[in-house]
Parts: sequence; structure tokens; C-alpha cells
Amino acid sequence: MFRRMPPIETNLERIAALAEQQRDDLAAFRYYVETMWFREQRSSAELDALVDRVAAGVVPHIDCTACANCCRTLPVGLVPDDVTRLARGLDRPPGAVAGGVVNRAAGARNGEWGVMCGPPCPLLRGKLCAAYAHRPQSCRDYPALTPDFLWLMEPILAGAGQCPIIFNVVERLKRALDW
Ligand code: SF4
Ligand code: SF4
Repeated sequence: MFRRMPPIETNLERIAALAEQQRDDLAAFRYYVETMWFREQRSSAELDALVDRVAAGVVPHIDCTACANCCRTLPVGLVPDDVTRLARGLDRPPGAVAGGVVNRAAGARNGEWGVMCGPPCPLLRGKLCAAYAHRPQSCRDYPALTPDFLWLMEPILAGAGQCPIIFNVVERLKRALDW
């Protein structure tokens, strides 16, 4: 039977509150999907294809330039190539970029090469990125729903309260999977 999709929610406060209320529900949904997929021996690629289809109905309705919540609230992991690219984009020597923008010590504590200072990210201007064309790879990839949604569901669902894309995709995925 056809089930109507929920309306797209973009209000960050409502999303944060709903995700908090639904914390147990999200954990139960993850268990439901994992159990179904393993029991029916369905492939991870099949779930990725479904997530991509659902996301295609969500992403065009979310304006990241009116949100920027990831840039304000999440740590950004870095690799050396990110700093080289940022330096090119900001027209500064890599050392100068590293001094004001990159935190190597905080990265090392997480087992990463480095992280951006913040959050919020020091390159955020209002709700726009001052180095958008040269932004780090992890910024380009976020929220990275696929590939491997089946294996990455736990960290992805943990971002439902911060990212409207994740929140709305998960709400629609619940309907698509008869949750
Ligand atoms: S580098 Fe740009 S896209 Fe990445 S977190 Fe900072 S402001 Fe956001
Ligand atoms: S990726 Fe998510 S949190 Fe980041 S700006 Fe877009 S909708 Fe907002």
C-alpha cells in the first residue's frame, strides 16, 4: 500500500527536539533495518540504492546555505591535502592557514592528522563557507549517507538532530521500510 511521505522539516530547533525525543526510536529503527537485511540476506548495495532514492526526494528541498549547522556544530577531520587546498583557496602559505585554522593537537587526540579549529569552523562567514570551492574533503562528503549505509547507520543516525538532510531522509526511510 502506498504510504504518504512526511513533509520536509527544516526548522533546526524542531529537528533537534524531535531527534532527542526519538533517540530510542532511532536505535530501534536501526535494529529493525539491520535485522531485516541480515535475515533476508539482502545486500548492502540494495539498501544504498533505496537510501539514494529517498535522499533524491529530500536534498533538493534543503538549502545548506540557509542552514550551515554542520559547520557550526561538528568537528571537521583534516588530512594534509585539505590544508594545501585551503591555502591555495585562501591565497596564503600552508603554514599561515595551519596557524589560524587547523588544530593538530585535537586531531591527534582523536587519532586524526588534524581537525579544523572550533566548532564553529573559523571559515564560516554567516552561513557561508569562506573557502567553499577549496573546502576539506570531509565537508564535501557530509552527510555521506552512502555507500555502506547499512554499516554506518549508527553514526549517521546520531547526526539526525543536527542535519536536516539526515533527519528527513531517515523519516522517509522509516515510511519506505514500513517502520
Ligand atoms: S571549511 Fe567551509 S564547509 Fe567546511 S566546516 Fe568550515 S565553513 Fe563549513
Ligand atoms: S549538510 Fe546538513 S547540517 Fe550541513 S548545511 Fe546541509 S542540511 Fe545543514
